[in-house]
Amino acid sequence: MNNYFSSLNQLPKTRVIKEMSRYAQQNKIPILCEQGLILMLQLVNIKKPKRFLEIGTAIGFTAINVALFDDEVIVDTIEKNQEMFQLAQKNIIDAKLKGRVNVFLGDALEFDLKQINNQYDMIFIDAAKAQYINFFEKFAPLLNNDGLIIADNLLFHGLVTQSTTIENKNLKKLVEKVKNYNSWLAKNRNFQTFFLEIGDGMAITQRVKK
Ligand code: SAH
Ligand code: MG
Repeated sequence: MNNYFSSLNQLPKTRVIKEMSRYAQQNKIPILCEQGLILMLQLVNIKKPKRFLEIGTAIGFTAINVALFDDEVIVDTIEKNQEMFQLAQKNIIDAKLKGRVNVFLGDALEFDLKQINNQYDMIFIDAAKAQYINFFEKFAPLLNNDGLIIADNLLFHGLVTQSTTIENKNLKKLVEKVKNYNSWLAKNRNFQTFFLEIGDGMAITQRVKK
C-alpha cells in the first residue's frame, strides 16, 4: 500500500503488534499483508463477530489484531506447527489476550470439532493451500447463516495466473490445487464468493440465503 494511504489508515499499533510484524518479516512468516489486514478489520468492524475462527495461526498476528481491534470478539485459531503454536501463545499472553484468543495445536483437518464452539460469525482460512477445499468442507458447517468465510493466498504468489509457465512439478500441482479451489468456490451454489486482488488474492464468501 502506498505511504499516503498507510498514513491515513489507523491500524492498532501496539508494541506486540510491531514486534510481531518485525519477527514475521525477519523470519519470512507469511502473515496477512497490510491491505489484507485492513480488509479483515473493516469486515470485523461491519460484522461485529462474537466468534472468529482462524485456520493457520502462525505467530498469532491476525488473531491478535482482530482481538485488539474489537474487544467483544473471541478468536479461536488452529495451528499445526509446534514452534508457531508456542510463539503464538507467547504473543497472546504478551498482548494480554489470554482467554480471548485461544490457540489450539493440531492439524485442522484432524481437529476434533468438539474442542471449539459450533457457531462462528467469521472464519479465516489461511493454512496449507492444497487443502482449501477440505478446510472449507470441514469448517463451513460452523458458519452462522449470515457469517463470512475469508480465504487468503488465492493467487498463490501470483503463480495462479501464470501456471502454464511453471516447470517444477510439485509447484505446478499445488498451483492447480489453488486454482481448483477457486473455481470450485466460484461455482458453489450454496455460497456467494467475491475474489479480490488484495495482497496475494483474497476471497469473501457468504452463504446464499434460501
Ligand atoms: N493467519 C496467519 C498466518 C498463517 S501462515 C496470520 O495472518 O497472521 C499459515 C500457517 O498455517 C502456518 O503457520 C502453518 O504451519 C499453518 N498450517 C498449515 N497447514 C495447517 C493445517 N492443516 N492445520 C493447521 N495449521 C496449518
Ligand atoms: Mg496467507
